[in-house]
Amino acid sequence: MERSSASMWRKLNSRYNLVGTECENCKTLYFPSRIVCKNCGRQTKMRDKTFKGTGEVYSFTKIHVPAEAFREDAPYTVAVIRLDEGPMVEGHIVESDKEVKIGTKVRQVFRKMLVEEEEGLIHYHFKFEPA
Ligand SMILES: [Zn+2]
Repeated sequence: MERSSASMWRKLNSRYNLVGTECENCKTLYFPSRIVCKNCGRQTKMRDKTFKGTGEVYSFTKIHVPAEAFREDAPYTVAVIRLDEGPMVEGHIVESDKEVKIGTKVRQVFRKMLVEEEEGLIHYHFKFEPA
């Protein structure tokens, strides 16, 4: 019982938070997680690393013709975020009255991502909003 709830929490934690890995040997950070450090190879000593979820826009694009699942959201902005700790992550930008530009500071927020119409399943994933 203990074990299964811990493993469920671990799965939830990695879906809802930005959890990557850090090589304890050379301190390189990875997101998404890697098992083997590209610097250290067999000397790799990985541990989980939770990122703060703050960073800045590295590049972005506005999507006007979305995939079917995101139809209700269009137009929306997808950006590559450089996290304050260094790794890059792609995410949707939550619409606000703030203009998104390269260098805009953002933070991770928890938002509904998409609804699968047939089964009515709601998926949650991370998004970012201008900070
Ligand atoms: Zn390393």
